[in-house]
Amino acid sequence: MSSVIAPSSVSPAQRIEELGRIILSYSEVTEKLQQSHDQLNQTVEMLREELSEKNRLLERKNRLAALGEMAAGLAHEIRNPLGGIQLYASLLMKDLTDQPQSQQIVGKISNGVKRLEALVSQVLQFSREMVCNIRAMDLAETIEQVVELAGITASAKHIEIDVEGPTPMPINGDPLLLGQTIMNLVLNAIEAMHGPGKVTLRYISPPAESDAKQFHLIVRDTGPGIPGHILDRIFNPFFTTKDSGTGLGLAIVHRAVEAHNGTIHASNADGGGAKFEIRI
Ligand code: ADP
Repeated sequence: MSSVIAPSSVSPAQRIEELGRIILSYSEVTEKLQQSHDQLNQTVEMLREELSEKNRLLERKNRLAALGEMAAGLAHEIRNPLGGIQLYASLLMKDLTDQPQSQQIVGKISNGVKRLEALVSQVLQFSREMVCNIRAMDLAETIEQVVELAGITASAKHIEIDVEGPTPMPINGDPLLLGQTIMNLVLNAIEAMHGPGKVTLRYISPPAESDAKQFHLIVRDTGPGIPGHILDRIFNPFFTTKDSGTGLGLAIVHRAVEAHNGTIHASNADGGGAKFEIRI
């Protein structure tokens, strides 16, 4: 900023000129201050959003851990009486050889028990510590295997599976867990579509500013999408909207991604359909 000239040695014109310079300098400084204030505000806003997202993830992680623990306890409690019911049902079946109609009813009980046993095993598998064997692998190859396996179910429903991404795509991960994860997402996408449609798998090396270190994978479908009011519950264990669903698929996917120190995000694509993004 210019210094003020001593009042005795200056003419009024010089004073006006000096005053003009001072005002100009002040307005420049004010403008710069305003700019840095705006920038600071923007940074604070960005950090606030980041913090609330991290809090949300932490909350979900704690909720999942508590639910998992409760489910494991319940599964153990249910397993023993189920064994007893199955045993009595098979004894009854033998006693009723001359009463086919009653045998049919006992058969239904036995089938119901088997379904419950399968569910209990799935719950116990879910609540067990997930072992993650990280090694050098090719993501492109894992995706190719998933597409090959899911292709049979997809083509029966006239659903096309498209893959976009570099080949090979060397990463460090657990091929088994990542294969299961991608398979669950693709099968869910196929199940969500009631007619012909398309599932697109797109993977890239993460851009510099991304949270991901190794890859960014997007699984997208042309189904009805995920209703907004259930979006924040779909990763919860036992949350399902399907008659025969267990609600464990996405909970297992979530844990597998976490075991890779990654994140998964579900949303609806701009043109409709569900979109799952994995960043590892
Ligand atoms: P399940 O398949 O047994 O229902 P999941 O945990 O895999 O269990 O999925 C939970 C719920 O998330 C589903 O019941 C469904 O409502 C929703 N969902 C998952 N994937 C999709 C998808 N691609 N499109 C629409 N809804 C989906």
